[in-house]
Amino acid sequence: MKKLKRREFLKKGSTATLLGGSALLLGCQSTEETNQAPAVHTRKTYQWKMVTTWPPHFPVMGEGADLMAEWIDEMSEGRLKIQVYGGGELVPPLEVFDAVSGGVAEMGHGVGYYWAGKVPAAQFFAAVPFGMNAQQMNAWLYSGGGVQLWEDVYAPFNLVPIPAGNTGVQMGGWFNREINTTEDLKGLKMRIPGLGAKVIAKAGGSPILTAGGEIYTNLDRGVIDATEWVGPYHDYLMEFHKIAKYYYYPGWHETGPVLELTINKAQWERLPKDLQAIVRTAAARANVWMLSEFEAKNHTYLQKIMAEDDVEVRKFPDEILTALKGYAQEVIEEVTAKDPQSKKVYESFDKFRRNVTRWAEISEKVYYSLMEV
Ligand code: CA
Repeated sequence: MKKLKRREFLKKGSTATLLGGSALLLGCQSTEETNQAPAVHTRKTYQWKMVTTWPPHFPVMGEGADLMAEWIDEMSEGRLKIQVYGGGELVPPLEVFDAVSGGVAEMGHGVGYYWAGKVPAAQFFAAVPFGMNAQQMNAWLYSGGGVQLWEDVYAPFNLVPIPAGNTGVQMGGWFNREINTTEDLKGLKMRIPGLGAKVIAKAGGSPILTAGGEIYTNLDRGVIDATEWVGPYHDYLMEFHKIAKYYYYPGWHETGPVLELTINKAQWERLPKDLQAIVRTAAARANVWMLSEFEAKNHTYLQKIMAEDDVEVRKFPDEILTALKGYAQEVIEEVTAKDPQSKKVYESFDKFRRNVTRWAEISEKVYYSLMEV
C-alpha cells in the first residue's frame, strides 16, 4: 500500500517537484513512509536502443526481446526505456555485435555463433554440436563459471553478455532427399549456421548460411537440398512442410542454443546498480519465458506437421549421428587448436559437460527413458 501511495504521489507530482531531486521527495514523505519506503532513486531516465538479429516481433525470440523491454520499463518505473528494433530496422541482423560494441545501440539480442568470424570463442556460448541441453547450458553459464568466461571474451569488444533465451533442442531440419548413409551427405547443399556448418562441410556437404527470408525460396527452387531452422513451431510458420518431404530429428547441431543479450560496456557502467539488477532480472525472466514458449508450442505444432500427408518425420540413422559426432570432434579440435581463447572456453565447457553428464546418467537420462505418453 505504501508503494502505491508513493507511485500516485510521483505521478501527481509536478515536474518542478520531480526535478527537485531526492531531497525534496524525502521532504514530502511522512516519517513512517521514509522508514519503510525503498531507497529513493534519482529520477534520471535512460532512453536506450536494442537491436536484434530477428525480424521485427519475430515469434518467441523477437517477442522475448519486446517483453524484456516492457519488463525493464515496468520494474524501473519508466527510468530505463528501451526501443527494440528488428533486424534491418536500424542495422542489418548480422551487424548487431558491431552496433552495440560501437555504441550505435546500447543493447543487442541475438546468438553468439553469428560473430564466430570475429570472435571464434563466442560460438561456444551459443551452440556446440552434440553439446549440452538448455538446462545444462544454464547450469554452466550461471553456476559453472560460464558467464564469467563469457564476460572476459566480450570485454575487449566493449560488451557485457547476459544469457537471455534458449530454444531447447532444435530439429535436424527439412530435407528433399533421404539421408540413409553418410554417402547421402556428400554434395548436400544445406542451410545451417555455426559449428554445425563446419561439421556438414567435413561430411562432404556444402553448408550455406542464408538469412531467414531467403530459405523458403532457395529450398523450393532447389538452390539448397536441405535446411535446418528451429523447431516445429517456427518451421510450421515458415511452411517448410509444403516444400520438403523429410523432417529429420534431432537437432544435433543446436542442442540448447543460448540467446544472448549484449550491452555496451561503457553505457552499462553508467547505469545505477539497481537498474543493472533490473536488466539482469529481465534477461533471466526472458530466458525462462522463451524456453517455456518453445516447450509449450513445439509439441502442438509437431502434431500439425505430422498430420500433413506429404511429410515424413524421421530420426537420423545411427550411422549418420555417429559420423556427425566424429566430425564435430574434429571441427572442435581444429577451432580450439587455432584459437587459444576458444581452447580455454571449450575446456571449461567440456569439463562441465562431462561432469554434468555423469549426473544425468543416473537422473535425467534414466527418467527420460521412463517417460511415456
Ligand atoms: Ca537453428
